[in-house]
Order: sequence, then C-alpha cells, then structure tokens
Amino acid sequence: MNMNCQEVQSNIMNYINHHLNHEQTKAFIEHIRTCPDCQDELEINYIVMIGLQQLDEGEILSVDFRKKLKEDIDRRYEEARKEEERNHSVRVMVIAFLLSLFLWLLGKGIAFIM
Ligand SMILES: [Zn+2]
Repeated sequence: MNMNCQEVQSNIMNYINHHLNHEQTKAFIEHIRTCPDCQDELEINYIVMIGLQQLDEGEILSVDFRKKLKEDIDRRYEEARKEEERNHSVRVMVIAFLLSLFLWLLGKGIAFIM
C-alpha cells in the first residue's frame, strides 16, 4: 500500500487522532519519512493539536515538539509493523489448520471408498 501527498495530507488529522488502521499508519509514516513537504504539514498540525491539548489540560508548553513527533512516529511505525506481522502469522496458522483439516477429510474419504 502506498499513499501519495494528497492522501497523506488529507489523513493528517486521522493520524494525529489515531483513526488510521495499522496498514494505513505504516503507509502514512513511510511517505512522511521520504517527503519533506508532508513532514512539514504534519509537524504544523501536530504542534497545533498538541499545543491545544496541553492548554486544555493546563500543562506547560515546554516540550520539544519536533522530538516528540519523531518519537511518536517511530513508536507508531513499530506498532503498525508488529501488528502486521501478527496478522500475517495468524493467517499462516489458519491456512495450515485448514490444510490439515482438508488432508484429514481426504484421508477419511479414501478410507471410506476403500
Ligand atoms: Zn508527500
């Protein structure tokens, strides 16, 4: 899955609000990491969002936003990657189960015919 600039920029708020699934998150971050334009766009939105949140909660605005954003991106990319791996291994297990079930039934069928 790949995202172009337009898709990424229209999904910035979804990213910040955790509304993307892991596949989208991964594609989003992969694009962000290679595209300075979208990176800027995300940064601006992120700073505004976090800034507003902190004002709401009465926190002091002392954070290095750029660093915080980078950490956030790295963490969420890792999560999305793990999630994808897990889904993959579940799929492999289901296929293996169905295959052995099929072979078992086939064995039964042959025994029946004989
Ligand atoms: Zn872009």
